[in-house]
Amino acid sequence: MKAIQAQHHGDQLQLNQCPDLVANDDQLLIAVEAAGVNPVDTYIVAGTNNYTASFPHTPGKDAAGTIRQVGANVKGFAVGQRVYCAGTLSGASAQLCLATPQQVFPLSDNLSFEQGACLGTPYATAWRALFIRAHCQAAETVLIHGASGGVGLAAIQLAKAAGCVVYATAGSEAGLTLLKQQGADVVVNHHEPQHYQQLQQAGPVDVVLEMLANQNLGDDLPLLNKGGRVVVIGSRGPVEINPRDLMARDACVMGMALANADGVQLNKIHAALYAGANAGFVQPVIAKRFNLAETGAAHTAVMQAGASGNIVINTQQ
Ligand code: NAP
Repeated sequence: MKAIQAQHHGDQLQLNQCPDLVANDDQLLIAVEAAGVNPVDTYIVAGTNNYTASFPHTPGKDAAGTIRQVGANVKGFAVGQRVYCAGTLSGASAQLCLATPQQVFPLSDNLSFEQGACLGTPYATAWRALFIRAHCQAAETVLIHGASGGVGLAAIQLAKAAGCVVYATAGSEAGLTLLKQQGADVVVNHHEPQHYQQLQQAGPVDVVLEMLANQNLGDDLPLLNKGGRVVVIGSRGPVEINPRDLMARDACVMGMALANADGVQLNKIHAALYAGANAGFVQPVIAKRFNLAETGAAHTAVMQAGASGNIVINTQQ
């Protein structure tokens, strides 16, 4: 099989010919059709934000494809079944990957393999932030601060389907157009100097999903309704806030790391995503696609400004 490998933190990603993987009795072997690319994949390769890896490292947590082999002790899966992985044992940027049964979920017939490769991290993150951390309810107003990327677009689809009013931000014209197409009720450019005034004029928010807390958190708090909740999903540094903005509103700021989700939560999240895909509102948007040999370029692209959906790798090309 072909696999992308890094030999050390900060290494250039190389396409290598490797021996085919074989599942042990407790594993599944997946023939990967598409791998999703997320910012965390780049942190792991770089070794930043406290991430480490064992080497050679094949990047990628999210994959979709068909089951090639089912370990003797594994129940509930069949060879040939369409599935996606939310985490793997061997890395998603390869033509084959190994996974535990807990990492593998059935892929709705409504979704392509490319779309399936966007569920494991972006959609699960958005679902956990909205419904497990913020306990978001129908008719509440949700600000998705950084909505043009993988997590943000997923959050728009999930929040709208739950009956919320959605304010969403992007940093490019293409991103803003996409947010409107996705049904956001209020759309604002987060690079505009007046963007907080525009959000304030739109009215108070009950929940903020924050993708860049180090820039925005202090200014998010005055936007909150009484009982408001901010979920910090992304942050790339420290930030100053005025705690009185929280006191006045009985509001709170909470962190969210998908890695903290236990098996019970993950099963709940992925069952909801399967139902959402079958109902038609879970519809990942593919912004850019790359071949396996271009994984390095995909990692560069996911960190560039001007997001408009998910970035995927077609692993068989
Ligand atoms: P992505 O696809 O690269 O999207 C990044 C988003 O951040 C885009 O919508 C981008 O908008 C937006 N952004 C850029 N500048 C901003 C600003 N000043 N204010 C608000 N938003 C801004 O990444 P993603 O997969 O959606 O992930 C978003 C963040 O969450 C990343 O930092 C990622 O590491 C993190 N994350 C955390 C978890 C967790 O478990 N906590 C899980 C997944 C992801 P434009 O490009 O349009 O400017």
